[in-house]
Amino acid sequence: MNIPRLLYQLQEIDLAIEAAQAGIAAVKADLAADPLAAERRAIAGLKAKLDTLRHELRETSAEADDFSVRIMNHEEQLYSGRVTSPKELTALQKDIDLLKGHRAPYEEKALELMDAIETTENAIDTAEITLQRHKEALETNRQKLEKQLKKLGDELAGLESRRAALLAEIPPSAVTEYEWIKKQRGCAVAKVEQSICRGCGIAVTTAWMHRARSGEPVHCPSCNRILYLE
Ligand SMILES: [Zn+2]
Repeated sequence: MNIPRLLYQLQEIDLAIEAAQAGIAAVKADLAADPLAAERRAIAGLKAKLDTLRHELRETSAEADDFSVRIMNHEEQLYSGRVTSPKELTALQKDIDLLKGHRAPYEEKALELMDAIETTENAIDTAEITLQRHKEALETNRQKLEKQLKKLGDELAGLESRRAALLAEIPPSAVTEYEWIKKQRGCAVAKVEQSICRGCGIAVTTAWMHRARSGEPVHCPSCNRILYLE
């Protein structure tokens, strides 16, 4: 039994498991995110603005209408023939002019508000069309992510069963040692290539190489990782 080789295989599986878990976490984060929240908030803001503008328009129009009613009453008197005194007629006309002067700013403001309402309505329409387009693109992306998640989940399950099968082949004491060094060093097994420990870069002596090749777990004298020779 070549324990370093089995531990090296275990390490390869563990690295693949970590990668699959990280992949799953990233995909889940993508699925949980709401990239259209800002667009929805912008539309809600425009709708609130539209409500305010409409409310202002109703109030401004009501003010203008009040003046219009008073102007109509005065004009009705003016042209009724009931008032004949030139002095009174002049006074009525003066009042009418005065009322029209008071009404004018409300009428102007109402026109401005109507313009603003139209602009805001158009902005809402445009934003809603864009949002719908983004929603459709997002839905396509969501389906892609779901598929990816399923694939990663299957991959992880496969790796975990391979890990369990491999663990059955390795003496528990070697696994304990592996786990302990892994905790300390991140990776527990280091390949030896060209007489160099790939874990820390130190040159491994021929005697150590010989021992490592025998299949016994030999530790790097520098980083303490289990040495593995292919
Ligand atoms: Zn080393």
